[in-house]
Amino acid sequence: MLSAHQLLGLDPSHLEAVGAQQLERRCAKAFVAMQAAALADGIDLQLASGWRSFERQLAIFNGKASGQRPLQDRHGQACDPLAMSDADLLDAILAWSALPGTSRHHWGTDLDLYDANALPAAQLKLEPWEYQQGGPNFALSQWLNRHMSAYGFYRPYQQALGGVAPEPWHLSYAPVSAHLLNQFDLSLLEHTLSHSDIKLKASILAQLPGLVEQYCYRIAAPPQ
Ligand SMILES: [Zn+2]
Repeated sequence: MLSAHQLLGLDPSHLEAVGAQQLERRCAKAFVAMQAAALADGIDLQLASGWRSFERQLAIFNGKASGQRPLQDRHGQACDPLAMSDADLLDAILAWSALPGTSRHHWGTDLDLYDANALPAAQLKLEPWEYQQGGPNFALSQWLNRHMSAYGFYRPYQQALGGVAPEPWHLSYAPVSAHLLNQFDLSLLEHTLSHSDIKLKASILAQLPGLVEQYCYRIAAPPQ
């Protein structure tokens, strides 16, 4: 359904604008319908992130690896990239931020959501406590629990499975995304990363199939 280049965030031709963000066309339609239903219930469902390019993901990854962006380990503890082994640094980055070329945000089928009635975008941190009881996005999270499946959405990162940390804000549009991992082109990913200026390149390329298995494939099963 998507080309190998679209899966890696290298080709935006399958997207449609939704506000300032972009989403895959069928996902965009479903999101807009869900957004209208949420608004009728007093929740202003907004996109913190929709589609993201390979280059954007590379900037996020390199920013964390170099200490230019804040870095937390998978338990939410702040850490210093210059004081860590390559293995620990890679896990801290990949627990929260995908390896460029493997982000589900490259597909346009995945989105990060918040309630603009509860807090402005500038205050949003995308941390789990914000979506738990007492947090500003708790009502949104409860609303999604009840209604998202009617619009085709589910949470791929819902329990700690040893890959990406649980992300209650991250939804995926299952009718399009459910089968995309089967189409994933590991050799094109390897080629693209080896020609990029990614930090930790040697470590990454030496264990690429294992990284993809751990951080891309260890997700909650999509609804049947
Ligand atoms: Zn996300």
